[in-house]
Amino acid sequence: MVKAAVVRPDSDGYVDVKDVELRPIKDNEALVKVEYCGLCHTDLHVASGDFGKVPGRIIGHEGVGRVTQLGKDVDNLKIGDRVSIAWFYSADGTCKYCVTGNETLCRNVKNAGFTVDGAMAEECIVDAKYAVKVPEELDPVQATSLTCAGVTTYKALKEGDTKPGEWVEVVGAGGLGNLAVQLAKNVFGAKVVVTDGDPKKLQAAKDNGTDLVVNRHDDDATEQIIKGTNGGVHDAIVTAVSAPAFTNAVNSLEPNGTLVAVALPKGDMALNIDKTVLDGIKVAGSLVGTRQDLRETFDFGAAGDLKPIVRTDKLENINKVIDEMKAGKIVGRVVFDFTGNEK
Ligand SMILES: [Zn+2]
Ligand SMILES: [Zn+2]
Repeated sequence: MVKAAVVRPDSDGYVDVKDVELRPIKDNEALVKVEYCGLCHTDLHVASGDFGKVPGRIIGHEGVGRVTQLGKDVDNLKIGDRVSIAWFYSADGTCKYCVTGNETLCRNVKNAGFTVDGAMAEECIVDAKYAVKVPEELDPVQATSLTCAGVTTYKALKEGDTKPGEWVEVVGAGGLGNLAVQLAKNVFGAKVVVTDGDPKKLQAAKDNGTDLVVNRHDDDATEQIIKGTNGGVHDAIVTAVSAPAFTNAVNSLEPNGTLVAVALPKGDMALNIDKTVLDGIKVAGSLVGTRQDLRETFDFGAAGDLKPIVRTDKLENINKVIDEMKAGKIVGRVVFDFTGNEK
């Protein structure tokens, strides 16, 4: 039996912490003794049944732990390896998306903590070929956030073709936005403008090395960006859960610019047709990242280029933390500690 956080029978948005029996591992799988698992807004959606009800499912897709048992066909992992458990849990490996570097779009994808049991438990089963190793030099608590927010922002900056010396706009200065700024500057060598409606978050972004900050509620927000970047941004990464933020971001793009949609507000975005056609604007959606994207993200974390804000807590407190998340009171990520070493 393992202690785990599972979706409640009525999917009321909270979880039950209880003992669960894991099935035996299959030949292609490994058993992982979880060390840490971060709690994400996506987990809250799963617990509320927003993507379909999955009562009894173990949540968690920001997990890190060590391999304790191997199925007989596994040759890419060893006992003791530290691996991650991500939202992109596995795919079929054979379809056109899988074989062209777009495996996260596979129609047979499995998601940890939603379609299969996840990592918010003392132990977790992984598909060995899809479990990405975590470098030993990387702090395992920080690694949990790179598994989700880190790889998501890295992939988005790649989709935007972010370039050294060019301007990138990061729309939304929350957890994703903070990581996007660090990556854009430290890894891509880009110049960064951050837009947000909260002056405190903008100040924090400024203190974090952002080149230009703009309050998106200012009447002349778009003009400020065009002027401050000398003609507009090369790409805009939209992490704000706000449909108008998408519309504004299109208007600050320079010709041949790319809008990369990451956040998921309800509804539609407005796209100025003149601007889109005459300026050759591209629009891309970006969803988490592939195994290779995650490996690269871990390497940047190990090199110190990417530092998510994290704090640890005990699993017993998870429903309290869910309430704090719903109230928007948490800066960074709360990561649950399964090592038994928590202070
Ligand atoms: Zn997540
Ligand atoms: Zn596939």
